[in-house]
Amino acid sequence: MKSSSIRPGLFASLASILLLAAGCQSMQPAGTSPAVNTSVAAPATPLTKDAQAAMTPQQALAELRAGNARFVAGGSLVRNHPADVKASASGQYPLAVVLSCLDSRQPTEIVLDQGIGDIFSARVAGNILNDDILGSMEFACKVSGAKLIAVIGHSNCGAIKGAVDNVELGNLTGLLARIKPAVDQVPDDGSPRTSKNAAFVDKVSEANVRLVMQQIRERSPILRDMLDHGQIALVGGMYDLTTGQVHFYDN
Ligand SMILES: [Zn+2]
Repeated sequence: MKSSSIRPGLFASLASILLLAAGCQSMQPAGTSPAVNTSVAAPATPLTKDAQAAMTPQQALAELRAGNARFVAGGSLVRNHPADVKASASGQYPLAVVLSCLDSRQPTEIVLDQGIGDIFSARVAGNILNDDILGSMEFACKVSGAKLIAVIGHSNCGAIKGAVDNVELGNLTGLLARIKPAVDQVPDDGSPRTSKNAAFVDKVSEANVRLVMQQIRERSPILRDMLDHGQIALVGGMYDLTTGQVHFYDN
């Protein structure tokens, strides 16, 4: 009984290894050919210390891109979560730390097709930065070896809308105040600067992501030094609620 209960996990792992070796994506619906970067092997099991150490920041970003492409195509990797829990219990070697919004429609691990132990996930309304999140990023990169910091906002963000409309509500007021500088950064093109203007809201979302990226560099000498020495990379992006796609910014 014991061996048969283990077998499904072994089969899943072997299947993943074989598919990865062949440059294929598992669970790929027949007849579809998504634009997946097959040059980077996506781990179907938690990263090991050696694999993390060997990974470059560029490869970490490629893996997040490939994971999102798998997700969009309906080809997310098959994972054995109980097995991954056991495999990662003694240590974690994630490839990236991702800051994204609290929004229930943007679950980071799912939309980037990452498993247990693969990424540090920081989520807060409006993907704002504060000292605690910055400290968490320093832990993720300097202590735990993550190769990439990704800041990913999303379309039609309620927190951004709240900041745009100057919403005041309990402790939320202070959080939205952190987004206000991004609102001010979007040039006035004559269109309404309210939450009813979807294009304006999304422009503020992008400005907010870029502002957070700038703040990470300015406010953390530790991360700035790692960035300057190419030990880590910093990337911004935007998640589209209507398509499931993450558009990573080129710079
Ligand atoms: Zn949001």
